[in-house]
Amino acid sequence: MSGSADVAPVASARALAARVRAGELSAVEVLESALGEIERRDGELHCFNLVTADRARSAAAEIDRKVAAGEDPGPLAGVPVALKDNLCTRDVPTTCSSRILEGWKPPYDATVVGRLAAAGAVSVGKTNLDEFAMGSSTESSAFGPTRNPWDLGRVPGGSSGGSAAAVAAGFVPLALGSDTGGSIRQPAALCGVVGVKPTYGVVSRYGLVAFASSLDQIGPFATTVGDAAALLEVIGGHDAMDSTSLALSAPRCSEVLDDGVEGLRVGVIADFLDDASLDCAGAVRAAAEVLAAAGAKVEDVAIPELLHGLSAYYLIAPAEASSNLARYDGVRFGLRVDGPDVEAMNARTRAAGFGPEVKRRIMLGTYVLSAGYYDAYYGQAQRVRTLVARAFARAYGQFDVLLAPTTPSVAFPIGAKTADPLEMYLADLYTIPSNLAGHPAMSVPFALGDSGLPVGVQVLAPALGEREMFRAAAVLEAGAAPEARAPVTGGAR
Ligand code: GLN
Repeated sequence: MSGSADVAPVASARALAARVRAGELSAVEVLESALGEIERRDGELHCFNLVTADRARSAAAEIDRKVAAGEDPGPLAGVPVALKDNLCTRDVPTTCSSRILEGWKPPYDATVVGRLAAAGAVSVGKTNLDEFAMGSSTESSAFGPTRNPWDLGRVPGGSSGGSAAAVAAGFVPLALGSDTGGSIRQPAALCGVVGVKPTYGVVSRYGLVAFASSLDQIGPFATTVGDAAALLEVIGGHDAMDSTSLALSAPRCSEVLDDGVEGLRVGVIADFLDDASLDCAGAVRAAAEVLAAAGAKVEDVAIPELLHGLSAYYLIAPAEASSNLARYDGVRFGLRVDGPDVEAMNARTRAAGFGPEVKRRIMLGTYVLSAGYYDAYYGQAQRVRTLVARAFARAYGQFDVLLAPTTPSVAFPIGAKTADPLEMYLADLYTIPSNLAGHPAMSVPFALGDSGLPVGVQVLAPALGEREMFRAAAVLEAGAAPEARAPVTGGAR
């Protein structure tokens, strides 16, 4: 693989935690090795906006103390994790990679951040993203792009590019991202790691800075399917602080990883194979064969409605964003640029604080919600959203899971799509429909494509179909080209 020197082996999270729990390895040692790698190589990659080394050292020392005292240090004891910088961390800057949040420190932790700490995971820092998670390449960050560890001239995908690249680079075995239209799955595919968007409501959004609230969902990045399942079990489950949180415990996907796919009905979304690059479409065909050989019943399915998801998304997501981002007024958060009166202060703050992509979304969203246009744009998009959900429902009458490319192509060069927003938006063509429907979907590294870069295949499932999704993902992982994913050492699934 090109740039292989930058893709370091990382132990599987569960193997690390088992050794820390058994007292064979100290959490402090594990952390120091992660911090050392970050120190050595993140100058070039820029996965992190902030490394919280001191806090991490105290957390790791506390884990070691618990192990020594015979207390339960948690299922992810001593596992270093990275947090997308749109997840609130108490007293630690949370920037959304935007100037408008300059200097702001949240007074509370996101629910997922608290659950990770309670499980013994050690947060090492906050990762770079497209500003407010708007983008597919991490290039719209106010702090500069993240580079893909497989090839430093290419993007890691986005918007959770920092988290995906941090796992691919071997800095941390686990990371969290958020996925509104593909922002976990797309960068996972481009970086050769596993990325999961859970069913809407399975993971609490409390403390996730809102982009498009009806679509946003937090989820895992990991080097293996099993590690992703373990992380989902820690972060998922009901939370009274999020009114859209489902009254259920986290899906227990670790239990089904060895169940295989005998008899599982798998539909290959044929509509997505026409425009995908040859390597991405070919990976889906090869993945279908792996599942069929393992006993799944695999067939093509036509769901043409899904291709309209993108247009609906780029009306609904900006509409919700324009409302959510109204709160950055120069008074309550971060940056303030003074003016002669409040309105001028507000306008100057927003003009200076937001980058061009965020401004484009706010203007687009405000326009589609305005009187006279509301029904033609926003209303119409909501009707298309319903059609997408119905089309999925029809397909899931016949199939347990669906198979598709995650992305139309492998990682593209830095700068290749920045001049044309539509080109950038098209990177999410195959991931957006699951967000519109609220369904789970995940990307599994499967093959090497053009230029020796990783290709992910996407497994989609109906609402709360995580267990079937993980069964298929585990079989795909076992049948994948081993060189297609960022290397793992230290433990089998
Ligand atoms: N790339 C899509 C967008 O720009 C999706 C982003 C995301 O999932 N956060 O809106």
